[in-house]
Amino acid sequence: MHNIQVADKAFELLLENDNIAKRTRLIGIQINLDYENRCPIFIGVLNGSFLFMADLLKEINISCEIGFVKVSSYKGTESSGTIKQTFGLPEDLHNRDVIIVEDIVDTGFTLKYILSEVYKQNPASVKVCSLLLKPTALQTPIDELEYVGFEIANEFVVGYGLDYDGLGRNLIDIYRAKTVAPNLP
Ligand code: 5GP
Ligand code: MG
Ligand code: MG
Repeated sequence: MHNIQVADKAFELLLENDNIAKRTRLIGIQINLDYENRCPIFIGVLNGSFLFMADLLKEINISCEIGFVKVSSYKGTESSGTIKQTFGLPEDLHNRDVIIVEDIVDTGFTLKYILSEVYKQNPASVKVCSLLLKPTALQTPIDELEYVGFEIANEFVVGYGLDYDGLGRNLIDIYRAKTVAPNLP
């Protein structure tokens, strides 16, 4: 299915699950090499990262720990810009090698906030692994962004963990919102 409807919005296929899986495998191989003998802790950002986190961790064959954090700040298709709070951030990050796993980095504000919370615990190192990145939407540089699955244009996407007003997270592929053609005179 190349065209789908989620709630009131039309979407078209952007990234197929096969493609996502291949890229995820490569990122996993790289992380296994980079973190050999280091026992990193992966922290998935809920809800969006839940599928990517699961698929990525199936590729990780080094000793590691897993945790999740929840931040809510996003409504509809536009970032509200206001970040509320983190819930569930592991409290034992002192001297640990932390890898934050995100579904998508858009403005980067959510990530900046999570990073500031993580740094309060004096970890040994912090890197970010995001399945998607919208480079032209990024409003703040993120030096920790080490692993990126795909760079995409500044458009709204849904599927593979990402939602449109709560729906579409269970789609196995990623879709982009169709742009409405302007009315010609
Ligand atoms: P940022 O703070 O980087 O602007 O955005 C952070 C969060 O907004 C992401 O982790 C994700 O949950 C949500 N987000 C950003 N862009 C999109 C998008 O294109 N589609 C969906 N479904 N969520 C997005
Ligand atoms: Mg996210
Ligand atoms: Mg969302």
